Amino acid sequence: MFNIYDLTQKDPKTLQERALKLAEEAGELAQAVLSVTKAPGSEYKGHDLADVREEAADAAIVALSILAQASESREEFEAELNRLMADKCAKWQEKLPVSSVDTVKRSD
Ligand SMILES: [Mg+2]
Repeated sequence: MFNIYDLTQKDPKTLQERALKLAEEAGELAQAVLSVTKAPGSEYKGHDLADVREEAADAAIVALSILAQASESREEFEAELNRLMADKCAKWQEKLPVSSVDTVKRSD
């Protein structure tokens, strides 16, 4: 997916460094969301939804690089990514109210 596995292999960061980077990106995402939603004390920062999308992508990329680094091979990374995303999204869907699940199925 978007060369994540190869980029992770070429980047010498440790697993701890990637985890800290994910925390940094999560903080940037939180800051953008707080600004966009005009949370008290944060609206002056002037972020917009494009900033939210960008920070969400940053966080997703770092999270995927952690998954890649925790995999023994590209094949394992891809198989685990597919398996985990399917399992986790299925669990998420199970927890939604029935009316929300119907909405999700209609938009698929
Ligand atoms: Mg960022």
